[in-house]
Parts: sequence; structure tokens; C-alpha cells
Amino acid sequence: MDWDIVIGLEVHVQLNTKTKAFCACKVSYGDPPNTHVCPVCLGYPGSLPVLNRAVVDSAIKLGLATHCRIREYNTFARKNYFYPDLPKGYQISQYKDPICYEGYVDIAVRGEQKRIGLTRIHIEEDAGKSMHGEDGTLVDLNRCGTPLLEIVSEPDIHAPEEAYTYLNTLKQIVRYTGISDCNMEEGSMRCDANISIKPKGRKALGTRTELKNMNSFRNVERALKYEAERQRKVLESGAAVTQQTLLWDEQSNQTKAMRSKEDSHDYRYFPEPDLSPLRIDDAWIGRIRSSLPELPDARKKRFTELYGLTEEDAALLSSEKEIADYFENSLQTFNNPRLTGNWVKNEILRILSESGKSAAESPVTPAALAGLLQFLHNNTITPQTAKTVLDEMAATGKAAADIIRDKGLEQISDSSELESLIETILKENPAECERYRGGETKLLAFFIGQVMRGTKGKADQTLTRKILEKKLG
Ligand code: ADP
Ligand code: MG
Ligand code: ZN
Repeated sequence: MDWDIVIGLEVHVQLNTKTKAFCACKVSYGDPPNTHVCPVCLGYPGSLPVLNRAVVDSAIKLGLATHCRIREYNTFARKNYFYPDLPKGYQISQYKDPICYEGYVDIAVRGEQKRIGLTRIHIEEDAGKSMHGEDGTLVDLNRCGTPLLEIVSEPDIHAPEEAYTYLNTLKQIVRYTGISDCNMEEGSMRCDANISIKPKGRKALGTRTELKNMNSFRNVERALKYEAERQRKVLESGAAVTQQTLLWDEQSNQTKAMRSKEDSHDYRYFPEPDLSPLRIDDAWIGRIRSSLPELPDARKKRFTELYGLTEEDAALLSSEKEIADYFENSLQTFNNPRLTGNWVKNEILRILSESGKSAAESPVTPAALAGLLQFLHNNTITPQTAKTVLDEMAATGKAAADIIRDKGLEQISDSSELESLIETILKENPAECERYRGGETKLLAFFIGQVMRGTKGKADQTLTRKILEKKLG
């Protein structure tokens, strides 16, 4: 029997606001435990939460970036449950009326565009962290009250690979808006995946399980693949899938039962009595809309249309706002999109990953790269020289012009100088000359390599090739 896979994802994104959602404590990561806490986030009786305006700004931003409707009249709710790292005994969240709803994210699957509906995006606060060690469990409450957005998709995803692409696309959008860095290792982006299967073509959805504990997008994909297969075996054996929460175990590559899935009535949601309703008017939405940057999809499209980049290059160069900005800033100094695109894609990204820096803090500035590429474009230096110059620029911060001048790296395009060098090389390699003349013409690359070695990569390639072909012919 053939089966349809049905997946819906719940993604939590931790906001990078300066302070927490309902108190003035700093949002921090990696600081000593329990150093960013106060009566409000510690849940002392009688303390009162105050909503952080920046959290609402962030929620509206993401809502607009994902084509959601923004709710005018918002309330908050208490989601009650006991956990050692949740001193209040409840999370402040939104229940019936999330701030954003009815949105979508477009993803590219095998060359086709697919629209994944967003049911809702709501504001909530994070819990603290339990740290399980050999001496027992310790609790760090620094994270208590950190603002989160929960982004809930419609069950529109129909393959584990689509879930992977959706997560990447969503991450790109969130990072463009600047509200979170979406770092899965540090927990600033987390994903719970819901999955069910049903006989192909049937309308009614099957019973779902919920997968937790995946710490990378690839693991989400793996866990979903495993779980789809597990459910298929259960159903084909004539048994039924139980609705439950499963943990992905990275070591054994399988899902394990964690608990039976709670229903929302288990949380005893009720309206948060300590926060007044939040009203968002059109002017507020308008202010946020005008602060939104061009989003990845639009930017990618513009890169292909305006600069003639390939789909693939445009996608890569627009994947991160900082990289896209770097690319376009460089064009302001030297407008050669294809050349610049290639160098950003190949060399600058390499330098950034080697130095662990972001594009905005690149050791080679966009203008400095443009300076180098001008020398390359007008044939002052060879591509090979350009690479070594770039590495030196990254290491020393010097300008291309200074390095080229100080080291005498200008391209050698003087044919008499090249001719005499080539004469010598041919004399030193009689056997290769013989083989070349016997038809092994791919040895040309060997000779070019020798010339490059003899000139430290400075020989004009085209001219070298011409002289070699003439002398060997
Ligand atoms: P809960 O808090 O109980 O997990 P939510 O409404 O927050 O419920 O999230 C439900 C998620 O599960 C959504 O992403 C939704 O698309 C998805 N979902 C709901 N029903 C199914 C199903 N039968 N199969 C797969 N996914 C489902
Ligand atoms: Mg859930
Ligand atoms: Zn606090």
C-alpha cells in the first residue's frame, strides 16, 4: 500500500532583545548561572510582569516577513505545568489569539515552489535550564523569561526533505529580519516535528506523533524519515499508531517514547490576569513594515535579473543578509557582478570560514576586494596572483595596490621575457616535448604549470599558452 506523509512543524525562535519578555533582566547566553534573575522571572509571589515592547516589534516583524495577518487585540494566557526549571509553575504564552496568523513561507523543492501555510506565530517566555551532572541536577534560571516566538506550520509538509528545506528557508527569513541568530547549537532555534501517515489520497489525517530533541536540521530530517517508516510498519502490521511524544536518539538513530502526548486542556490555560490586553494599531504595523529589509526571496530574484547571476549563485549570495550586503557593497566600488560574485562565493566565504568571522567583520572589506578585482580585470595580475594577494590582504589588512607594488607581482606579459623562459623549460624537459609532439597534447598543462612556477604565478596565461603552442607545434 502507498502512504502519504503529513508533517507539521513547531519552531521556537529565541529573540535577541536586550532584556527579557516581562522584566528588565538581560538576555544572556553562557554567563554564570543565576546571575540574570529578578523577582519577576524567579516567580516570586506578588511580582508583576511588564511586557517588553521590543518583543512585540519582533513578532510583528516576523509576521509581516511571513505574510501573516497581525492581530489588533491580543491577550496573554498562562500555560500551567510543573517543571523544576519553571519556578512560576506556568509559562506566559498566547493561546486563543496569537499575535500573527494565516501566513505562509514559500520553499523551493526540486526546482518547484511550494507554499507552506503558517497557522500562527505567538509570543511566549522560555523556561530555565536543568543541568544534569554527576552530583545531581542543578538549575540555572538565566533563561527564565527569555522571549520566544513559536511558529506553527500547517500540516502542509509532505516529505522529510521538505521539512529540511522549510527550516532552512524559515531560518533565512528570521535572520534577515534580525530578530534572532537562529543558532540550533545554542538553542536559539528549536524544532518539534509532528508526523503522521495516511493511505495515499485519503483526506482525513492519521494519528500523529511528536518528535523532540533534534539538534540540527539534518537530524530533523533523519528523525522524520525514521518515524515515517516506523509508523508504516505499525499500520501495515494491523496495529494503530499511538499519539505520543518521542525523543530522537542521535546515538542509535531512532525515536524513543518519552511520554504520552498531553492535550491542551492538560495545561489548564487561562487568561493572564497580570497583563492587560495589547492593542496593535495600523501605525505600529506601518512603522515595523517600513523597517523591514528586502527579504531573501526578493533579493535572490533581483540578483538574477539585475546582475545576471545564475539561480544557484543568486541563492548562495542572498542566503545571508550580511553576505548579500557585502556583495552589493563591493559592487559600489567596482561594478562587475559576475566576477565579484565568483570571488565572494569562492574566496571570501573561504576566508570567513577560516577566520570564523561574519561577512560584516570580514578582514577584507568589500571596497578592498573591489580594489583587488580591478587589478585582475585589467590584467595587471593573474588569477593565481590575485588569490595570494587576497590571502595577504586578509592576514595584514593591506590594500591590494600596496602588496602588488611592494612585491612586484604585476603580470608578466612581455613576450620576449616569456619566450626565453619557455625556451629554457623546453630544453630541460625533452621527454615531455617528445610526448607532446607525439600527440599527448594534454601535456600543455604541465608546461603552463612550469612557466607559472618559474614566474611565481605571474605569467600571462593566454600569452604563455600561445607561445608554448607555437614552439611545440
Ligand atoms: P500541540 O501544542 O498539541 O503540539 P499545535 O497546534 O501547537 O499542537 O501544533 C500542532 C502541529 O502539528 C502543527 O504544526 C500541525 O500542523 C501539526 N499537525 C496536526 N495534526 C497533524 C497530523 N495529523 N499529522 C501531522 N501533523 C499534524
Ligand atoms: Mg506540540
Ligand atoms: Zn528578571
